[in-house]
Amino acid sequence: MSRFAFQTHRLSYSSVSHLFLKKKTCVSLCKRRCCHNNSGFALRGIHMDVTTSSKVRKLSQPQHLLDTVQIFIFDCDGVIWKGDSLIAGAKELITQLKDLGKRVYFITNNSTKSRASYLKKFRSLGLDNVDAEEILSSSYAAAAYLTSIHFQSKGKKVYVIGEKGIEEELEKHHIAYLGGESDKDKVPDMRPGGKVVQDSQVGAVVVGFDRYINYYKIQYAQLCLSQNSECLFIATNLDSVTHLTDAQEWAGNGAMVGAIRGCTQKEPIVVGKPSPLLINDVIQKHQLEPYQICMVGDRLDTDVLFGKNNGLQTVLSLSGVTTIEKVLSDKNKILPDYYIQSIADLLSKNI
Ligand SMILES: [Mg+2]
Repeated sequence: MSRFAFQTHRLSYSSVSHLFLKKKTCVSLCKRRCCHNNSGFALRGIHMDVTTSSKVRKLSQPQHLLDTVQIFIFDCDGVIWKGDSLIAGAKELITQLKDLGKRVYFITNNSTKSRASYLKKFRSLGLDNVDAEEILSSSYAAAAYLTSIHFQSKGKKVYVIGEKGIEEELEKHHIAYLGGESDKDKVPDMRPGGKVVQDSQVGAVVVGFDRYINYYKIQYAQLCLSQNSECLFIATNLDSVTHLTDAQEWAGNGAMVGAIRGCTQKEPIVVGKPSPLLINDVIQKHQLEPYQICMVGDRLDTDVLFGKNNGLQTVLSLSGVTTIEKVLSDKNKILPDYYIQSIADLLSKNI
């Protein structure tokens, strides 16, 4: 990931929102212009090839989408795989897209793995047609963001609430850290006069999904952020729930971030979906317009919102956590451009 893209977006939450607005306006204008002059991006062509409902369209034939999109960004769990099972058609689709000259990326808010660990998972599922650079994990995004602001050169350390994925990415980016796995069994001294003593060199607290979060880690992070106004509060994501087992939904990283937010009254810099940080780098690297990129995901509040906030085309796959009833519900305000039953529906029949 280039440093430049991240340098240009050292964001507070308010500036992220501002960027969303600017980008949406820009994309809207661009789409209108393309429709009017028919300059190779025929939005109207796509519309002809879908089953239209009043709220959202089923993509019945992918050819026009394949013709207009240069980069496909796939969410992983629920789209490429489910747990440890590959979703049918995934490998064939990746190969087909690459043969067509398309670029593919895989984006995940799960910070418990590094890029290298994710690559092992891709390989274990038989996806030997994926490279590590094509994997955009929120653990990687946290380290890349810190690198973009030259965190290493300041001689500061990161306090980690999170698991191995964040630690591995920080190590790969030569960023000093403490906490994380090594604090998972720690208990603060709460006897009279007891206290937690924090390292004064901590310049950022990174909060990712942590199955071993405890009161010691919360107190440590609270001290770093409350006693040092310069200390950065970085969240890998704000997902409310996650899927540790297929029996139920489990509390997601929103719970860990919420704990730190609650005791510090500070808002985090979010580096994973739906923040624009990762996609800005992809757009800049490939010199494309946002509408030439398509986000394919199974969640409305992260994947589809991420795509829409950034002006991308969006496809919701019903192979994961979202049902068509939820999409069509009056309560749902986040509508994808198209929905599919699974990514097998994106395979071109013309090859
Ligand atoms: Mg998913």
